Amino acid sequence: MRVPYLLLDIDGVLIPFPEDTGTGPASHVHHEVVPSHRDPDDPVTIWLNAAHGPLLMDVIRTGLVTPIWCTSWRQDAATLIGPLLGLPTLSYVDLPRPQITTSHPNGYLWKRDHIDAWLGDAPAAWIDDDFTGLDHEWAAERTARGPATLLVQPASHVGLRAEHLAEVRAWAERLPVPPTLGPATPSGVSAAGSARGGP
Ligand SMILES: [Mg+2]
Repeated sequence: MRVPYLLLDIDGVLIPFPEDTGTGPASHVHHEVVPSHRDPDDPVTIWLNAAHGPLLMDVIRTGLVTPIWCTSWRQDAATLIGPLLGLPTLSYVDLPRPQITTSHPNGYLWKRDHIDAWLGDAPAAWIDDDFTGLDHEWAAERTARGPATLLVQPASHVGLRAEHLAEVRAWAERLPVPPTLGPATPSGVSAAGSARGGP
């Protein structure tokens, strides 16, 4: 068994959706960032929970999972969001940019077809707030045929909680011990830096 990937979404997970007041939870601190290809004079306001960095690092340092950004922030996740949480530069999946008006154009998460091909037969835990029932069926079918697959789905307006990462860790600890060499890198990964934590 290879070291499983930990696919990480941002919007609705690290950046909860705004409440009616237009802001995030009180636990989150506001930041202004300038995503790639955006006018530097037109920053975007986001909110992050500083506790999420150490919580993620606790899982990453175990070496039980290989964290990868899986978000429409793409490279900006590694260069803008991660550093605000004190995270090392993680790799990211270079997701396609479909012309869609819903995140479920075919009844399931728009990222899924790309991720399904990208993962190949690699095991994966995937944290995203936007799965549908069809995604959960996909994960169950995938697990049944071999690659262990865990979907963790925070509530969009609440975001990531400690128990979500505890679930990932417990799941990874139950998997067969991986070989010492770690995972092969699938094609299409955009290496923004070392993704491995721990030994
Ligand atoms: Mg999301």
